[in-house]
Amino acid sequence: MDKLQALQQDVIHCSRCPRLVAWRGQVAREKVARFKEWDYWGKPVPSFGDPKARLLIVGLAPAAHGGNRTGRMFTGDRSGDWLYRTLHKFGFANQADSSSCNDGLKLYDCYITASARCAPPDNKLLPEELKSCRPYLLKKLQLLITVRVIVALGKVAFDSSYDAFRESGLTSLPTRPAFGHGNEYKLNERQTLIASFHPSQQNTFTGKLTEKMFDGVFGRVVEIFSR
Ligand code: SF4
Repeated sequence: MDKLQALQQDVIHCSRCPRLVAWRGQVAREKVARFKEWDYWGKPVPSFGDPKARLLIVGLAPAAHGGNRTGRMFTGDRSGDWLYRTLHKFGFANQADSSSCNDGLKLYDCYITASARCAPPDNKLLPEELKSCRPYLLKKLQLLITVRVIVALGKVAFDSSYDAFRESGLTSLPTRPAFGHGNEYKLNERQTLIASFHPSQQNTFTGKLTEKMFDGVFGRVVEIFSR
């Protein structure tokens, strides 16, 4: 087992956050009517993708009936529909659909992780939960040595990504940079952090995040890689 796989195993068995342990289990037991037939994952959701990726995507946390149900990041919810459709469009995924762990989805040159690996109530994490889960993000950054661009989906992911870089001594940026859709910062000589609005239903239904805006972020990633 390599170091990345060992880290995934640690994640799956983690129970550091009592509130999230209780919630992810409760959701998995109670389910929702439309997924009554599912055997929910109900554990921390491991990261997913190409271990030699140049693109790292950092999300917020698994959705209660998305990743917490299927066991894979951004799989089985509306945010995932947006994300994988876009990754497929820009050549980072072999297909646009993500419905279950057995759907054949593969990522190319792209790896997906999150600020926290357990679904939180109301999609809101407490500061201490973010802090408890950050060591996993930190270790991931140290193991994914080919990463050149980090796309952070939402302000929480953006701040968590910066904090992880700062704590591991991988950036000289002295303070958290400002979050804004499309904002871009050089973290060090090799790596760039790009902010994006999260493709949550709240953002996509209201038009705060449009397809064109989301495409703009991944178009920029491709542009950076072509240099
Ligand atoms: S959120 Fe992270 S630290 Fe907390 S229980 Fe889940 S995997 Fe562990």
